[in-house]
Amino acid sequence: MNRPHFRRTKIIVTLGPASESESALERIIQAGADVVRLNMAHAKHEWVRTVVRRIRAVSARLNKEVAIMMDIKGPEIRTGDVAAPLELVAGEIFDFIALPHADRPEREVRSVSVNYADIVKDVAVGDTVLVDSGLIRLEVLEKDARRLRCRVLVPGPLTSRRHINLPGVRVNLPSFTEKDRADTLVGIEEGIDYVALSFVRESRDIEMLAEFLRAHRSKARVIAKIEDQQAIANLDEIVRASHGLMVARGDLGIECPYEDLPILQRRAVQACLAHGRPVIIATHMLETMIENPVPTRAEITDIANAVFEEADCIMLSGETTIGKYPVECVQVFDKVARRMEEAEGAGYASKLALSSDKLKVLRSAVMMADQLPATGIVVFTRQGFMAQGLAALRPRYSPIFAITNNVETQRQLALLRSVDPLFLPFSSQPEETVLSTLKLIKDTGRAQPGDKLVIVSDLLASNDQLVDSIQLRTIS
Ligand code: PEP
Repeated sequence: MNRPHFRRTKIIVTLGPASESESALERIIQAGADVVRLNMAHAKHEWVRTVVRRIRAVSARLNKEVAIMMDIKGPEIRTGDVAAPLELVAGEIFDFIALPHADRPEREVRSVSVNYADIVKDVAVGDTVLVDSGLIRLEVLEKDARRLRCRVLVPGPLTSRRHINLPGVRVNLPSFTEKDRADTLVGIEEGIDYVALSFVRESRDIEMLAEFLRAHRSKARVIAKIEDQQAIANLDEIVRASHGLMVARGDLGIECPYEDLPILQRRAVQACLAHGRPVIIATHMLETMIENPVPTRAEITDIANAVFEEADCIMLSGETTIGKYPVECVQVFDKVARRMEEAEGAGYASKLALSSDKLKVLRSAVMMADQLPATGIVVFTRQGFMAQGLAALRPRYSPIFAITNNVETQRQLALLRSVDPLFLPFSSQPEETVLSTLKLIKDTGRAQPGDKLVIVSDLLASNDQLVDSIQLRTIS
């Protein structure tokens, strides 16, 4: 197989001021981005409409369809406004006053309002309150119906509207908020491919979003972002209920002891592979490249570890939203991933439960391809399920050429490891479709004469029956 076309691990780029212009997008997609993420924590609806159309136009010009993922904010607890930054001091007593009571601070104790009234019910004395990505740490000393009185353990400057994390606390906020609904509706109208739901705590959260998408006739798929201890406790049911998982290490690393993070990442990857779902490793992969043109050795090793674990995607956030080197970050991802993919991965896919005959057929196709050098796998797929099954089996050497007559499916498949999605109208004659596919793969330089292709299909029907089949063809 022709190596230059083929990187197994997919790259997700978060869009922002550093990457949203037409020329930046063009360079980023050319450098290898497969999925573009829109972070709704910072986005306006008009911006979404503009950039989705821009991404589609640039993709069409480059003849490379990328998937668009709308990342909705989910439940979030924030501090209110402060007139000037409050420099919290170690040992200081400090109050968090739940709205709507925040207009009655006490004179002798400094305080800030919180946008969540029930924080005083959910949090217990002795619990930890973390502010601003965990930079400021406080311990709850006492509480009443309107405030948490805390002691500052790790000090820092408190500015307006900072994110609050409550490690281990079961928060009683709705999972799919009014803002999320409004954002998702805009995404549906603009034809986004994935919706990523933040702070998923149980499978019901995912089902609620999926139901909303169905009710609005959207085929967008749902990614569960796991970011706290409750999500970890319910990992299996969340994986089963979603189309894929994002290991959102930013919040997860605050909500859980940081030394647990590598173990949690590995558990999440294994759970996804056991259920045949794609998995994304996110956050801080190239953090220093926000400012610097080259990565640290530790960052290279972090990327390499995600590739070794055979994750489907690695993701850039601040690096491409506000960073100075967005294109270079994609190039680093591309280079490190290709190099690591030359070595054998962790092999977690062997735990995939082959629950259906269809999966057993797919496993046979992958085993066949693994035995033959210079072999690609071809699958004909309308909604992408067969391609997803093949990707989940993690073929050792072969790319998976997913041939689809549906551009939505083509875009969604951009997220899956080893899948190279190609658009082709299907002929009513199956053999014609196969021959057009071989021609497409050869003409686009994806294979050369003599290369072999394992073809998996249920289109090769006789007597109007759909029959699962595996064929071996050679490119002439
Ligand atoms: C994270 O916390 O790692 C993450 C990806 O979520 P967000 O960027 O939405 O905070």
